[in-house]
Amino acid sequence: MKIPFIDLKARHDQIRPEIDAAIARVLDHGQFIMGPEVAQLEEELCKFVGSKHCISMSNGTDALVAALMALGVGVGDAVITTPFTFFATVEAIMILGATPVFADIDPATFNICPNEVEKAIKRVRQENDLNLKGIIPVDLYGLCADYQSLNKLAQENGLFVLQDSAQAFGATTPDGKRAPTHGDIGTASFFPAKPLGCYGDGGACFTDNDKLASLLRSIRVHGKGTDKYDNVRVGQNCRLDTLQAAILLEKLKVYSEDFGLRQKVAGKYDQLFSAFPDLQVSAPVIPSGFHSAWAQYTIRHPDRDSLAVDLKTQGIPTAVYYRTPVNLSGAVSEISEEPFACPVSEQYSKQVLSLPFSPSLVGSSFQIVAEAIKRLAKF
Ligand SMILES: *Cc1c(COP(=O)(O)O)cnc(C)c1O
Repeated sequence: MKIPFIDLKARHDQIRPEIDAAIARVLDHGQFIMGPEVAQLEEELCKFVGSKHCISMSNGTDALVAALMALGVGVGDAVITTPFTFFATVEAIMILGATPVFADIDPATFNICPNEVEKAIKRVRQENDLNLKGIIPVDLYGLCADYQSLNKLAQENGLFVLQDSAQAFGATTPDGKRAPTHGDIGTASFFPAKPLGCYGDGGACFTDNDKLASLLRSIRVHGKGTDKYDNVRVGQNCRLDTLQAAILLEKLKVYSEDFGLRQKVAGKYDQLFSAFPDLQVSAPVIPSGFHSAWAQYTIRHPDRDSLAVDLKTQGIPTAVYYRTPVNLSGAVSEISEEPFACPVSEQYSKQVLSLPFSPSLVGSSFQIVAEAIKRLAKF
């Protein structure tokens, strides 16, 4: 049996008839852009996460760009974010001509550290003529950032919070809130490999703010006013396809079950590693009362690359998220005058390794991964 890094096929095979029927319904009605499934999906997604508004988008990156546009970010503005993320988070800031400012991560959770954010706010306000507008925390690997502290900081400093929850749709915090409803706007990605994935590109913005919601609906369709030929602002074309919405409606029906299975698989990994302390493996701390959406199960190891080779030799695929912290990426070093020091992110990028993870990684397939890891422990 071959273990895939992410097994999308297992779930697909189970709900194939429902997906086929959903696709057929769209082919029958032919409303491929903004068909009825788009509004239906937005309503269901709102119900699931407990948000007032959902504005579906073409992908998670466009959702971030549209959100920043709605929040009024542009040239001369600065936005604080984490360097330990997928490039899209930072790219969205830079596409609009704004400047990213990096705050290092918390060594325990791997998410942006509120103390570092506080320092970054002071630094920008003292040294820079940039207009600091907001913070984009990222819910890395599926775990919500510390929104209690981050929202407080944002409020005290007149900043927005834009939650990049591309990896954490539905993740929960102790107050019972579900991602991405923790900030002024939250974004999701429905890229196939994300916890809630469609069969192409997809994304969404969530907000409780009526004004931001109506701005986002306008930005999504070329800055439309009364219709798409009444252009009252510059927007973009970032609509979700009706076909993807129809597929997501079916995937959402089984998402709660998948979410539970993800907790189980993560628990099995935790158990396995705690049995082999000699392996020197550590994983992000999930603070009490938080539930990660487990986009990835990621460990840290002092000799990450050898561990990856040893697992590959035994047929176990792994991946590295992320090998280069974004503050050190070519695209960013080009614009920033001084390199940002983010020592934790820089150290962790050399140590992290994500292991095979899928809701279906149970029973005999988990056993294969477990045996491979046990063999390493015996070296
Ligand atoms: C995947 C991802 C995105 C981008 O989502 P797409 O749908 O691929 O555009 C943004 N931020 C983070 C943290 C991601 O993991």
